[in-house]
Parts: sequence; structure tokens; C-alpha cells
Amino acid sequence: MLQAQRALCSQAKPSAGGWQALRFDGGAFRLKSTAELARALLVLRLCAWPPLVTHGLALQSWAQRLLGSRISGALLRSSIYGQFVAGESVEEIRGCLQQLHALGLRSLLAVPTEEEPDSATKTGETWYEANLHAMLRCVDLSRDLVVSPGPRLMQLKVTALTSPRLCKDLTSWIKRPGPCSELSPERLAEAMDSGQNLQVSCLNAEQNQHLQASLTRLYRVAQYAQAQHVRLLVDAEYTFINPALCLLVSALALRYNKPQEGGPWVWNTYQAYLKDTHARLAQDAEAAHRAGLAFGVKLVRGAYLEKERAVARLQGTGDLTQPDYEATSRSYSRCLELMLSQVASHGPTCHLMVASHNEESIHQATKRMWQLGIPVDGPVCFGQLLGMCDHVSLALGQSGYAVYKSIPYGSLEEVIPYLTRRAQENRSVLQGARREQALLSQELWRRLQGGDLRVPH
Ligand SMILES: Cc1cc2nc3c(=O)[nH]c(=O)nc-3n(C[C@H](O)[C@H](O)[C@H](O)COP(=O)(O)OP(=O)(O)OC[C@H]3O[C@@H](n4cnc5c(N)ncnc54)[C@H](O)[C@@H]3O)c2cc1C
Repeated sequence: MLQAQRALCSQAKPSAGGWQALRFDGGAFRLKSTAELARALLVLRLCAWPPLVTHGLALQSWAQRLLGSRISGALLRSSIYGQFVAGESVEEIRGCLQQLHALGLRSLLAVPTEEEPDSATKTGETWYEANLHAMLRCVDLSRDLVVSPGPRLMQLKVTALTSPRLCKDLTSWIKRPGPCSELSPERLAEAMDSGQNLQVSCLNAEQNQHLQASLTRLYRVAQYAQAQHVRLLVDAEYTFINPALCLLVSALALRYNKPQEGGPWVWNTYQAYLKDTHARLAQDAEAAHRAGLAFGVKLVRGAYLEKERAVARLQGTGDLTQPDYEATSRSYSRCLELMLSQVASHGPTCHLMVASHNEESIHQATKRMWQLGIPVDGPVCFGQLLGMCDHVSLALGQSGYAVYKSIPYGSLEEVIPYLTRRAQENRSVLQGARREQALLSQELWRRLQGGDLRVPH
């Protein structure tokens, strides 16, 4: 493997003379074992098959009934679970992280949580408290297991700690015309500090109690994460709750994004598929700068397109998403340009994760970083999902860029509903992974012809 690594590094490093596009030609697959390549090819082929994605959960329970839990579990572990999930035990997660580290990739742990509004156990204060403990454990795992150099990051889903129902009500209130001092980030930050009962007039007593409990949970995670030197990347979700999530992140940012304390410790996510994202990003960057706060951004295209459009149709409201894929990509490109200029002018107080598998976006980012003099391993990093587009991640990692793989972990029962939901949200990406499949087939064929099917070590 070392030989292959050296060869790749020498091809792909940005040259001193000028910028050179990275080659996402699958050359980096030489670092992977034949078994890993074969599994990746099989799983990506299966995931590109629409019925499997649509009826994933039903098929799983059918297989469980027909084959029994042990056999169906073993099949899942050697295929979809094995491809996209780090494992369940600390040892399994550690093994996955060490393997990524050996390939030049970093880890971004993510707790997979799926709320089920009709379930008696997966909702209510007890469920959110259990999720709080899962998040605190994720901070510990990020501190203890991550071996790579560079900042330790983890993903945080706010609706694991507070109910989407409350976020929806807060969003309706935030969207009302006119200023609303009752729901200012300052007021929420004070309530987080004091732990005293916050009263918001648009909410009933039960909702006020839940808001205070949610603020306390968020505060505990952020405080603990900062103490353990782990940065929180807050996920963006649906437009009917995002304004409430942004309000909560702004409250956290007031306390945890002070540059003199090593901030930003709490980053927000911006979805380029929304029409207003570029304007909001510019406004938030400017506001953070004016307030003397550091600013951290995870930039994505956005995962909830189908549901966003379905909700808009159902409610007869305007569609807030870009009209087509090209418009989303133009928006991503403009947001990327904006953030890279911010990083170039504000240095280490401004951080960006380019969270995309898109080769064009990554070419744009690496080229502009070079033009703006942003170091390859500085405040800009890249993010891709575990098991997806390894040809892109490996090429970036081997060239010295900071690349994080988003890594869910947990038991089969916890993770399969989460994976099924993610696969449904990323249907177009999975179907579009044809290039990755072609590159995997090409590398497997090369090994077969050369009789070289050994594990590279
Ligand atoms: C590390 C990481 C963290 C992430 N965190 C989040 C998060 O917090 N919130 C979130 O929403 N997503 C998140 N995502 C998912 C992300 O938003 C995308 O769904 C996914 O990365 C695919 O986009 P791409 O740029 O990688 O690939 P591409 O294949 O280039 O883009 C696919 C995306 O283009 C857009 N698109 C496709 N068709 C159309 C169309 N007809 N009209 C308009 N737009 C279209 C959609 O956004 C679709 O997901 C994350 C992804 C990564 C890698």
C-alpha cells in the first residue's frame, strides 16, 4: 500500500508552478483491498435499484422473517451496513477510523437518530434525554478514537434533542413580519446559561418547558464538546424548521464562537438548493464578523428536495428550492466563492467544509484555494459520506487536503431505518454513482487480468 500511496501523492500534489486538477480517475482505488472494492461495487449497484431504496425497511423485515435474524443480520453486515456504517462496538468503530486514517482520511462521527412521531418510545422527553447521552458519548468517541491530526469534528442533529413540532411552531413565529425580541439569540443564550424557565408568549406551558429542556441539552453538548476540543457541525433539515434551528445555532454561536476561545465550536449548515441561501450566507457571515464572532459553515447542496417540493405542493405555498439541478449547482458555486473569499480575508476565524461528492465543485474549491493562497490543510476542509465516492475522497486525501468522512455508527436496528431514510433522500446521488461503479469495475478488472487480487499492505 505504501508504494501505491507514494505513486499517487507524486501525481496529485498541487504543483509549485501552478494549479493542477486532481485526477478522480479511480487510481486511488489501488489503496483498497479487492474485497472492499467488490463490496462497494455490489452495494452501489443494489442502491441504484429504486425498489430496494423505496421498500428497504419492508424488505429487511421480510428477510428477517424468512431467513431469521442471524442470517439476515449477517447479510446486511457484509453488504449495506458494512459499506456505510463504522460498526457498533468501540473496537469496530476504532478499526474503521484507523483504516481511514491509514488512507489519509479523517472522521466526522454522526449519531444516527430517527424520530418516529407515532412511536411511544421514540419521542418525548425520555427519548431526547437518551439522545443527549448518545451525543455526549459521540463527543467522547471523537476525542478518544480519532487518531488523525487536525481539528476533531462531529455532526449534531438538533431534532435529536428537541421536537420537530416545537421547531415548526417557533419557525411560524419567527416568520411573522416585524422584529421579535422574545425570540432573539441573546435571550435564548441567557436562558441556556441560567437554566431558568424561559417564557415565550407564542408557546403554551408544556412547549415552554420543552424549549427550556432542549436549550439545556444543547448547552450541555456544546459546553462538553468545547471542553473536549470537538467542534459541532449542526445539520440543516427542512425549511419548515430550519429558521428555528438557525435561531438555536445563533444562540450557541454567541457563547461558543469567540475567536479568543478557539472558536468556531458550533458550525451551521447551508443548503445551496434553497433560493435564498446565498443571500442568507452573505448576511450571516457579515453579522458574525460585525459581532466579532468566528464563523463555521458546512456547505451542502441539500438532501430533502422531494419532500420540500411535496410539502410546497400540498400547502399551495411557493417552492423554495431551485428549479433544477443546474440552478442548484450555480448556487453552490456562488456560495463556495463567497465562503472562500471570506476565509481568504478573515483567516482562521472563518472555517468551511465543502460537503459534496461533486467533482466540479471540488475542482472549483481546490483551484480557488490555490488562487487565493489558502493552504490545503487550513480552515477549508472537504466532507463526503462513508462508503460514497471514495475515488474523490482518496484523491483529495492523498494530495494533502483535509477530508472528513461522515460516519454513522450503532446497532443494525438503530442504523437501518436511518440508512433507508438517507438513501431515499439521496436517491439521485445513489443513482448517479455510475461513474464510481465504472471506476470500481475498471480496477477490479485490472486486478483480475494481472492476477493481482491481494490485499494491499
Ligand atoms: C459530510 C456531509 C454532510 C451533509 N450534511 C447535510 C445536512 O446537514 N443537510 C442536508 O440537507 N444535506 C446534507 N448532506 C447531503 C447533501 O445535501 C447532498 O444531498 C449530497 O451531498 C449530494 O450532493 P452532492 O453535491 O454531493 O452531489 P450531486 O450529485 O452533484 O448533487 C445532488 C444534489 O443536487 C440537488 N439536486 C438534484 N436534482 C435537483 C433538481 N432537479 N433540482 C434542484 N436541485 C437538485 C440536490 O440537492 C441533490 O442532493 C451532507 C452531505 C455530506 C457529504
